[in-house]
Amino acid sequence: MSRRKGSCLCGALSYDIDGDVDGVWMCHCSNCRKASGGNGNAIVIVKRENFHWLTGEDHRVTYELRPTYTITRCKTCGTPLPAEEDETNVYLTAGTLDDPIGVGVKARIFCGSRADWDFDMEGSRHFDERSS
Ligand SMILES: [Zn+2]
Ligand SMILES: [Zn+2]
Repeated sequence: MSRRKGSCLCGALSYDIDGDVDGVWMCHCSNCRKASGGNGNAIVIVKRENFHWLTGEDHRVTYELRPTYTITRCKTCGTPLPAEEDETNVYLTAGTLDDPIGVGVKARIFCGSRADWDFDMEGSRHFDERSS
């Protein structure tokens, strides 16, 4: 069975997941845009039994931002972390994965709230690393 690791930016928190995942959900709602500071949150949904904290589980801080919206971050580096919001699933922030998952975005939600700049302009330049 495949096993993939993830971690926060400072490395205090790490986890792994078992089994394959079937794709990434992108949420473009205004809460996710602000919480991420970008175009939204990229989430992989995994069963709770397939998710395991390896280190730093006690290093999390949870912010209740709205009655129905909370985010969990590393208390040292602020990385948005996988959240255990319901009984069956963990909502894993895809950017914290260290290993490839072999699938892409399967769905985008709240596209009506998508930022107006969230597309590549014609002639948009792409760089493998920092721009030169
Ligand atoms: Zn951290
Ligand atoms: Zn959202």
